[in-house]
Amino acid sequence: MSLQLPEKSVELGSARSVMRELFEYGKKRAAAVGAENVYDFSLGNPSVEPPAQVDECIRALLDAPQAASLHAYTSAQGDAGCRAAIAASLNRRFAAGAGADDLYLTVGAAASLTITFHALCCPGDEVLLLAPFFAEYRVFVEGAGAMPVVVPPHAPDFEPDAEAVRTALTPRTKAVVINSPNNPSGVVFSRETLEKLAAVLREKAAEYGHPIFLVTDEPYRELVFAGREAPWVPALYADTIVCYSYSKALSIPGERIGYIFVPQSAAEHDRVYAAVCGAGRKLGFVNAPALFQRVAAACDGVTVDVGIYERNAAFLCDALTALGFDCIPPQGTFYLFMKSPVPDAAAFCEKAKEFDLLLVPADSFSCPGWVRIAFCVPAEQLQRSLPAFEKLAQAFGLQK
Ligand code: PLP
Repeated sequence: MSLQLPEKSVELGSARSVMRELFEYGKKRAAAVGAENVYDFSLGNPSVEPPAQVDECIRALLDAPQAASLHAYTSAQGDAGCRAAIAASLNRRFAAGAGADDLYLTVGAAASLTITFHALCCPGDEVLLLAPFFAEYRVFVEGAGAMPVVVPPHAPDFEPDAEAVRTALTPRTKAVVINSPNNPSGVVFSRETLEKLAAVLREKAAEYGHPIFLVTDEPYRELVFAGREAPWVPALYADTIVCYSYSKALSIPGERIGYIFVPQSAAEHDRVYAAVCGAGRKLGFVNAPALFQRVAAACDGVTVDVGIYERNAAFLCDALTALGFDCIPPQGTFYLFMKSPVPDAAAFCEKAKEFDLLLVPADSFSCPGWVRIAFCVPAEQLQRSLPAFEKLAQAFGLQK
């Protein structure tokens, strides 16, 4: 008996991502040589404790008299009171002009993006992905039946290049995805860059006679270091859709909560919001976890201690630069982007494994020749890893 299955699903489920492979390898090595001797910088799993408000809010919710209804179904797009509270927070912080019916609560940014692409894209539509980008975008865009079009990275500042975007746009472009603060580069896009990008999109949308949506993926919005700002994108470009997640701001990635915000300024707002609700329904992404809807509503705008990541960033960047590596000083997130000293970053990362350093070649972020180091680990682990980095530098003749 032969079984017909969608081969793409079988393929996606059979292969692990490079990061997951490394993570599994790290667990095996830890069992063999001791966890303290493996320096796993592969995954973006936050190490900083959630803010106290998160646990306090959960306790208060559980102790409240209405605790039974706490676990009941909510509206498909999320509890109206929770959406209103998040909208009020966005209005306080960004003058967003948001209302409850502009928000759709989701199980994190992955769902926000998936729903958004399903809401916007028709067969044959193209979605521009600006390298370096989170590898899963490709899966989400293709899953929605659209075609990813990669815009090459703009080294060494890794800001989006508006002119390269202009070249990649076609009448079939439905959306452009941006992610700032950026995984994997650690760069926070400047207001000037975003304004230039917005100007090109406005110009081309007018030329093509249809909107081009700017999908802004913002799980790291609050992880911004001193001296930088992450501008509120809908204020710069009307046809923006915000895909947000509380995973990193509150250090709760396993709890799965986020939202989609369709600003009133977006073209055909009501139809687009209906399409978001419909795509959520089609995908079965209705009623995000009820308890964490309440937590999100109470804690929107609350943030982990970003100073911990900022100190890690400075320590690692200074130490690696002193060893002769070429690094992009992180402006936010918990990722450091480092140039591979040889063109083949995968070969460099293989060598690093010999010193039990687990680094991710940025080929999987469509940025060959670079390496991502996730420094969301305890500071003492970073310190202990330096002798291994020193050996790695020596192996490539960098040591001064
Ligand atoms: N987008 C980017 C850029 C990410 O780095 C991640 C997770 O690391 C996601 C989306 C997915 O976030 P979530 O865990 O909230 O689904």
